[in-house]
Amino acid sequence: MAKKKTVYEKLCELASNLWWSWQPDVTQIFHLIDPDKWSELNHNPVLLLKEYSPEQLDDKLSSLSLHSRVNVAYRRWLEYMDRSDTWGSTNATILGHRCAAYFSAEFGIHESLHIYSGGLGVLAGDHLKSSSDLGLPLVAIGLFYGEGYFSQHIDKAGWQQESYTEAKTENLPIIPAYTPEGKPVMISVSTRSGEIFAKVWRINVGRVPLYLLDTDVPENSQEDRNLTARLYGGDQRTRIRQEIMLGIGGVKALEAIGIEPSVIHMNEGHSAFAPLERVRNRMHEDGFSFDDALREVAASCVFTTHTPVPAGHDRFDAALLEEHVGPLGDQLGLDHHALMSLGRVDPQNEGETFCMTVLAFKLSRLANAVSSLHGVVSRRMWASLWPWRSEEEIPIGHITNGVHMPTWLAAPMRVIYDRVLPTKWYYKTGQADVWSGIEEITPGDLWETHQALKNRLIHFSRDLLVKQAKRRGSSETEIGHLKTALNPDALLIGFARRFAPYKRADLVMKDMETFLKIIEDADRPVQFIFAGKAHPADERGKQIIQRIFKLTQEPPFRGKIVLLEDYDINLGRHLVQGVDVWLNNPRRPLEASGTSGQKVVLNGGLNCSILDGWWAEAFDGSNGFAIGEGRTHVNQEIQDDRDGLNLMKVLKEEVIPLYYDRNYDDLPLEWIARMKNGIRTLGWRFNADRMVMDYAEKMYLPAAGGLSSQIKGDSSL
Ligand SMILES: *Cc1c(COP(=O)(O)O)cnc(C)c1O
Repeated sequence: MAKKKTVYEKLCELASNLWWSWQPDVTQIFHLIDPDKWSELNHNPVLLLKEYSPEQLDDKLSSLSLHSRVNVAYRRWLEYMDRSDTWGSTNATILGHRCAAYFSAEFGIHESLHIYSGGLGVLAGDHLKSSSDLGLPLVAIGLFYGEGYFSQHIDKAGWQQESYTEAKTENLPIIPAYTPEGKPVMISVSTRSGEIFAKVWRINVGRVPLYLLDTDVPENSQEDRNLTARLYGGDQRTRIRQEIMLGIGGVKALEAIGIEPSVIHMNEGHSAFAPLERVRNRMHEDGFSFDDALREVAASCVFTTHTPVPAGHDRFDAALLEEHVGPLGDQLGLDHHALMSLGRVDPQNEGETFCMTVLAFKLSRLANAVSSLHGVVSRRMWASLWPWRSEEEIPIGHITNGVHMPTWLAAPMRVIYDRVLPTKWYYKTGQADVWSGIEEITPGDLWETHQALKNRLIHFSRDLLVKQAKRRGSSETEIGHLKTALNPDALLIGFARRFAPYKRADLVMKDMETFLKIIEDADRPVQFIFAGKAHPADERGKQIIQRIFKLTQEPPFRGKIVLLEDYDINLGRHLVQGVDVWLNNPRRPLEASGTSGQKVVLNGGLNCSILDGWWAEAFDGSNGFAIGEGRTHVNQEIQDDRDGLNLMKVLKEEVIPLYYDRNYDDLPLEWIARMKNGIRTLGWRFNADRMVMDYAEKMYLPAAGGLSSQIKGDSSL
């Protein structure tokens, strides 16, 4: 029999698989070992455990009586990894033979792994976690960004400053990927200007392996060693070089590891070169013609588009494409014109640049948008790709995004759920009937739990505000004020997301007169927390941050409107678990889905949102609030003005009165009823288990097994 494992070894094993990150009991163990250090180390258990020798840790665990909790957690982990009665084992059997491969430029799994920038990445992270929970056979491919995405500071003038820190792989739960022969994987991609090499890392996300390509190897020039250093850094040339690594390199990496997927899922167009490398394989290994190989490969590829903003689609000019994809084109027997045609809406139009989204549509059998409204917008936007079809027949369906419940649900809320939902509800969160028990939650219970979470958020925010002010060199008086910023008894509204201009973080300032009145009302106080990063090249986004920063410094707003720096998964978790209201006011219809509001729902917060993205299909009149009626105007300024007025109107007439309508126990019963309506009507629909099951049934299974599809007909062009 194998030697019994020590608790130290068990904890190290738990730290080596990101499964721990969505297990509140395991997270709690790391927290209890040293609460301050745990937070200082950004919740990185690999770093935490390095602080102790096995003996020291053993002593520490003994003194805290944590041994049995470690043993229980470890046993649960083994059971999780071995479970065979999963949804996937009965509903996705073909994938058990050959899995699905999920390609994405970013993955937001945990704050200690900086390879994401925003919603796209967090969605990808949630997709992997739910796939793991459901036992869906899936592997994931991405890039290892040593410096990741930037950390944000805001200087005295309110201007965003960016800084990068290099991650050390020895401090991450990351190991080299190996070939079946046991050699570390190394792949290369040829360009006209030389070969680019990459090694491959592996990170375990529960049962799902995530493979990350890293060009920081001695075989490369210094420039190429830096190629994968930063997410969304550099110019167009960096961009296309990263994308050939992700798509072409990713397929080569899977092959080297010995994985032959039955489906390729391109999460956004960044990875759209992947099918071309598969085509090359078919031609080379099986003697297919290009056309035959393309038909076969496209039948096994699926594509999710995320961007209704026209400028958000990657486009490359002919020279960049030739330099980077020319060598592959040679092997496919495609001349420059034929290659360019693959990325053009009109193959004959020499004036068109090469668009990755167009390539992805042409190379995939099934395609989807990420909300119902986004489906409509995408079909209109890409109608010219299928000129012989009417708009309703454009083969782009939709699967609305969802969030991974165990990641975003606060532990105290989970306790309430356990009380009223059927046993093992967390294995069945995608079923509506499982959620009917939410009605049985007693209002007092829900309110008390929510208030506790809100208090936690307020304390967390105050600490951050003080830290930020100290770094900016603020005066002692100012710092003193921040220690009491935000009032636990006042309505708290949160707004946090990327500061892309279409998200209009400063919409509250449109109707300044009403806004000021709301803020100055001492009887029914209202306060706001803002957070979010602007892309380093986005001057307009940075100006919006600056506007809000300046507002936070002005007397009537000070302490009532605060701006927290460096929005990431950790800050996001605190916010979505603690706010009363989550504000989202994008310029409709530019928000493809949005997911942060879904995280808020699970924790009992209410959404107050423009009817765009997921909210357009979620709002039913009594599960949150709508800003306006879902109208758009051809004139953007008029639309912004109108939305600004509607925002103040709903706050003044609905949100604030409802929040302050209290019974003799000081409970806002109508408000609490809305909280419950939100959870009951939305929890099952907008969660990642439901989303992944939809992907499996509507996309992966048809693509893997040639079944007819429910979402889209044959899109071969
Ligand atoms: C959920 C999440 C997002 C996505 O939010 P949207 O509503 O899509 O803007 C972005 N960043 C972080 C850190 C998140 O957790």
